Amino acid sequence: MKQGKIFGLIGEKLGHSLSGQIHSRLFAALGAEAHYDLIEIPRGEFADTFPRLLTEYDGLNVTIPYKRAVLPYLESLAPEAAEYGAVNTIDCVARTGYNTDVTGFLRSLGERAESLAGDVLLLGAGGAARMMAKEALRRCRSLTVAVRDPGSENAASLCQELAGAARFVPLGQIEGRYDALLNATPVGMWPGVEGCPVDELVIARCGFVFDAIYNPAETRLLRAARALGIPALGGMGMLVLQAAAAQEIWLGQPVDGDLTNRLIRSLEGTSHAG
Ligand code: NAP
Repeated sequence: MKQGKIFGLIGEKLGHSLSGQIHSRLFAALGAEAHYDLIEIPRGEFADTFPRLLTEYDGLNVTIPYKRAVLPYLESLAPEAAEYGAVNTIDCVARTGYNTDVTGFLRSLGERAESLAGDVLLLGAGGAARMMAKEALRRCRSLTVAVRDPGSENAASLCQELAGAARFVPLGQIEGRYDALLNATPVGMWPGVEGCPVDELVIARCGFVFDAIYNPAETRLLRAARALGIPALGGMGMLVLQAAAAQEIWLGQPVDGDLTNRLIRSLEGTSHAG
């Protein structure tokens, strides 16, 4: 029988997830007696499986495609989870849903979050892009969202949700200068590591580049930005800091910044391909 508290991640495909490794290392460093499972749920089995997990686990993380599907099963939502209509962390005892992706995003930017106050170029219109668009709109002078197909379901629904507050353009037709470029597409992610969502002429017109991709730690986009002398940040910080924020909720104790910095550096130095 397992000792201590049990936590886990639910999602459809978790073969390449780093969450088990990140949470186990954080639990160990915090001296918490806790266990973390990766729980794959096929799409058709969610409604039968999830209510049982809610009673068996102390806390759960949620990833694609269930961040919205869990909402009807919860009794309350933290403000960010309610605003985004998406939950990635659950306190199963209180049946409360949280969104720590946004915490991880903002904490990982650190002082670079100031660049969100200027002209922001966001690539993509999926789940991560939606969160970044809303966070950018709280602060920015202008938001341009570049998508591969402005007529796609994702682009149309984000455009409707932002109600004219952002300009939508095709990825191949980006013009102008930007204080921040935020990549929320999977272009450049392992195994397609040679992919880059925009060409160098676009990158050169940006003051800062953030790539949500964390595998590889240095994408082609980040490499191109750094070669041009542009400050650039990958997604490993966001991934580790959203996990740390989940543990703060579950364990009720703060996670030290030195600990998460060491973990980010260690994971960025490890190859996760395959
Ligand atoms: P998602 O919901 O599937 O959205 C992906 C977006 O990228 C969609 O708008 C999609 O376009 C676009 N896209 C996909 N393939 C493309 C291509 N070949 N060319 C141009 N655009 C393309 O995914 P997500 O959850 O937002 O995740 C996006 C990326 O962020 C992933 O790489 C993920 O690993 C990363 N992420 C990182 C963290 C972190 O903690 N670091 C957290 C969340 C996500 P359509 O709208 O046309 O389908």
